[in-house]
Amino acid sequence: MRKSIRNLFIPIAAAVCGMLIVSVGLLLLSMRPIPDGRAAQGVWTVKDTLVNLFIIQGNSGLIAVDAGMNPEKVIQGLEKMSIAASDVHTVLLTHTDPDHSGGISAFPNAVRVLSSLEEPMILGEDERIFFGISRSERNPLANEPYTLVDPGDTLDIDGRTIQVVSTPGHSPGSTTYIVDGRMAFIGDAGVQSRGTIVPLPRLFNNDSRLAERTIMDFLNSYDDMEYIFTAHDGVWSDSRN
Ligand SMILES: [Zn+2]
Repeated sequence: MRKSIRNLFIPIAAAVCGMLIVSVGLLLLSMRPIPDGRAAQGVWTVKDTLVNLFIIQGNSGLIAVDAGMNPEKVIQGLEKMSIAASDVHTVLLTHTDPDHSGGISAFPNAVRVLSSLEEPMILGEDERIFFGISRSERNPLANEPYTLVDPGDTLDIDGRTIQVVSTPGHSPGSTTYIVDGRMAFIGDAGVQSRGTIVPLPRLFNNDSRLAERTIMDFLNSYDDMEYIFTAHDGVWSDSRN
């Protein structure tokens, strides 16, 4: 009996290691952030290790979409482009995973905006399933003031019209911000693949089936976007496709 358990151990361990290697490979393949620089007219990107955040020009200041992972790195990236982090008055969070919210202290003057559907995540009341492991924990974001928006809201921020669209699956409250009806910032609702947008690999999503439905519905409903900004591989432009 003992021998048969030992005989099983090696193939099971090999299978687990194989799955892990494939998972890490998927992780790296899905993350190809673009370098610091101008991403479109009036939009700049900062690369923080594995992720991009975006800066949008307003009439009198700047709006960030997401906040990167590490505040020092974010500030360095901004300085390279002569952008002052202190000019950012609003940070729109697509969701609250640490690679999108960990750098938030780089923006001391900014109002922090997130979807009401994502709030339970920062309060530790909702589960985040990552690589099949469920965790619920309070995010440091919950310790500072923030502003909630609801899907369906239209915001008027510093001369930009911003629609709030629910794009769940990666996390329950994942949110897309559509700026001036032509530029969609979708966070981790999708990554680029062969000229279109597909969901992130399954292991990164709370609910992969929902993530697949979400991105399909989004692309059907908003097929007139000029730009789609994805947090792990930059920008899709309709003029290139
Ligand atoms: Zn991410």
